[in-house]
Amino acid sequence: MSFASDVRGELARLPAGEICCARSELAAALLVSGGIAWRGRNRYSVTVTAADAAVVRRFFGLLKQHWGIVGQIRTLTGDALNGLKHYQLAVPDGDAPRLLEELRLLDANALFGVRQVPDGEIVRFACCKKAFARAAFLMCGAVSDPEKGYHIEIAAPTEALAGFIAEQLTYFGINVKIVGRKAKSVVYLKRAEDISDMLTLLGAAGAMMAFENVRVKKEVSNRVNRQLNCDSSNINRVMNAAEAQIRDIRYIDEQLGLDKLPKSLREMAYVRANNPETSLAELGDLLIPPIGKSGVNARLRRLSDIAEKLRCGDEIELKAHSGKGEEA
Ligand SMILES: [Zn+2]
Repeated sequence: MSFASDVRGELARLPAGEICCARSELAAALLVSGGIAWRGRNRYSVTVTAADAAVVRRFFGLLKQHWGIVGQIRTLTGDALNGLKHYQLAVPDGDAPRLLEELRLLDANALFGVRQVPDGEIVRFACCKKAFARAAFLMCGAVSDPEKGYHIEIAAPTEALAGFIAEQLTYFGINVKIVGRKAKSVVYLKRAEDISDMLTLLGAAGAMMAFENVRVKKEVSNRVNRQLNCDSSNINRVMNAAEAQIRDIRYIDEQLGLDKLPKSLREMAYVRANNPETSLAELGDLLIPPIGKSGVNARLRRLSDIAEKLRCGDEIELKAHSGKGEEA
């Protein structure tokens, strides 16, 4: 079961609600999924088709409970559906005009006498606005598994309808975006907080909790990963500097011999070469007597200078640099 089908399942099983909301849900379902077909004067075919049986059952229940209409449910399969089973609820022809009238979808001035965007009356109350968005999501909605990414959308067949769906969500402070995709107009959200709010608004409280759990888990593991990356880049920096220092020390040993170095540098060279992973401050503690980080740094730089001069064939004046009280 995907996260999206969990959300749909939860929404489809919510209690039916008042008749105002049932009207709103059915209008949304028929409009977003293109469930109304004109069959001639005052004759319409009204169907609700979905891959999810629970969704179709919900609309079957609404029709029966509020208008006493008993729809027919049939199973569809075929190449057009990519071999997936779909369920279709058909409103009996005799009941179709009455239902469309009830849903305020008939309009003599509209193409084929059916409105493409609902009458504002259908979403008169806040409960109905919510119901409209919920049914639109049930029919044409999608939501990503939060483990994989954050995205929720409702793909409407027209820009006007996408705008109407967006209005219902905006009423509750959920500011969706709309983008055209192929022939559809898609209402969508990408921020985790917004998706969480939308799931709550639609009524998917259980899915919202599951979503939040994943989100918190991901945020914690992101923070831990960032910290680990930061630590390992610090370790790399120490290692890279140490590698260069040890390379220089080996070179001095080959070209000159470490025993030719002043005692302070010789000891520094031994300690560094034997402790490639140790920080400068810790290296200082390994010397006798211990010295500070800046002292260690100065000695290592001196060793690098010597190696550099050896590489370039420059003259090295060990005695001249061995002063400053370094020679214990
Ligand atoms: Zn209502």
